[in-house]
Amino acid sequence: MPAMPPVFVTTSWDDDDRSGLKLAELLSVHRLPGTFYVPTGRLGRDSLFSVSDLRTLSAAGFEIGGHTVTHAVLTQVGAGQQAREISACKSTLQQILGREVTMFCYPKGRLNAQLMSAVKRCGYRGARGTQMLSCSARFHPFAMPITVQAYPHGRSNYVRNLLRYGAVGALMKSSWDLIHFKDWLSLGKTLFDRVRRQGGVWHLSGHPWELEQLQLWPQLRQMLEYVSNQTGVQYVTNGQLLALLYGETSAGSGTLAAGEASASPISHG
Ligand SMILES: [Zn+2]
Repeated sequence: MPAMPPVFVTTSWDDDDRSGLKLAELLSVHRLPGTFYVPTGRLGRDSLFSVSDLRTLSAAGFEIGGHTVTHAVLTQVGAGQQAREISACKSTLQQILGREVTMFCYPKGRLNAQLMSAVKRCGYRGARGTQMLSCSARFHPFAMPITVQAYPHGRSNYVRNLLRYGAVGALMKSSWDLIHFKDWLSLGKTLFDRVRRQGGVWHLSGHPWELEQLQLWPQLRQMLEYVSNQTGVQYVTNGQLLALLYGETSAGSGTLAAGEASASPISHG
């Protein structure tokens, strides 16, 4: 019998709101890893992450990734500001954490080929977008998709999301899931079951401030309960996932050794 392809679970959480600490606690209870993508421009202000919050998260085993300085939508600013936003958040975070920051996340998931190269040039090893409904372990390391967002999207939002990324094939593949769509929690469970059967990556993402605003914590608890502590599943941060899929590269070299060569074709414009 052929070996079962590996099953990965990863989670990622965006922005600088301190409700991220509540989320981290919930992840810890379920022994789940997480990557926090944090813009660095407002650290320490009321109800936002402080420098010591970030150190605490990092010391607890969570990964901290870059998410620009001002949360600028990078497709809407010039190349100079792009480069500053992408590299300054990396160096600030590295100074705070005393370790290399290898992952980046595009604000509002807006990315294109030029931005992907800019992020790579700044020395990151990968970056996450917001294309949803992916269960595959084959994706471009600078356009890491997600599976489900902890947010009450309607069915049409999923369709729009995939179309925005030009992912028509993914949309066709997801048609059964979208026809039977009920809510994000059941969708998340269905896709987790599928990844467990077939192998792949189950990636939950969200905004802690949104969980707080919409009081989505009970549903999130159910979701985490469902996917945690399962045998045969590798629980990893976003950065660990890329390292496992594409191999480690030498720290700070700013190059992707195996990543680019073996990356699947980009479905993004
Ligand atoms: Zn954001």
